[in-house]
Amino acid sequence: MPERGKTKFVDGLVTLRATQLHQREKRYSAKPEVDEELEAKRAEARKGTPRKAMNIGRTVMPTQNDIVCYTCQFQFVMRGRAEVTQCPKCGARLSLKDEKITGGFSDELVTAGKVVLTKSAILDGGSITANHIVLEGTAKSGVLKAYRSLELVQGAVIPEAMIDTRDLRIGPGASHDFHSPMKLGDVDVAGELKADIEASGHVTVRATGHLLGRIKTAHLAVEEGAGLNAYVEARAPTRPEEETDSAAEPDVPDDTDPPNEDAPDNEAEKT
Ligand SMILES: [Zn+2]
Repeated sequence: MPERGKTKFVDGLVTLRATQLHQREKRYSAKPEVDEELEAKRAEARKGTPRKAMNIGRTVMPTQNDIVCYTCQFQFVMRGRAEVTQCPKCGARLSLKDEKITGGFSDELVTAGKVVLTKSAILDGGSITANHIVLEGTAKSGVLKAYRSLELVQGAVIPEAMIDTRDLRIGPGASHDFHSPMKLGDVDVAGELKADIEASGHVTVRATGHLLGRIKTAHLAVEEGAGLNAYVEARAPTRPEEETDSAAEPDVPDDTDPPNEDAPDNEAEKT
């Protein structure tokens, strides 16, 4: 029986060691352990605005002015800094305070700012709604709703069913294994994540990261040294809002097309 030596077609589990990355992503790989700074840089890179000095950790101001109203989910950009603002759509008065939870929590907390649950924090039956949530501790039960981003720091414990966010970030050293399909915006993996993800935004696997499972995205960036063991469905986005002349975007054929180029069994034909 002829033995198939090498097949060029790999349709399932693909292991990649990508060697390329966008210049702008590369900047961050230098210090993956500085989470908050990284996060701030990311946000700035997205907006394309120049970097400003920030005292994250000491400020109670939101680090970003891109707000999602927790009453009507309207998204808007706030100018300047404030502790409260008003949703231009529904008129709701929105708190922008950043909060830190350090112990057991079973109350209700709502803010359009950022909430950090430290290592000693245990969310047990409470409800936390914020634009940004950073989980270092334990989410046992209750609601943890992040309108914009949820960051799982190393040591964070959270049941899969409680993940409710637009963007997901897995911090360095963190490891999570999610089984249900997830629909997310941006996904940033600096730790280990096994999941079935459909991302409408960017999926980035950092140098310290390892992404496994299944990923469907229009934008995938893998830093040098990162691990990727996943079924990847990556294709150019159809951008109906941004660009009206879609003719400018040629249809790029998939590299993962079925093996029309034959992979001869040259090893098998030996006598
Ligand atoms: Zn609103």
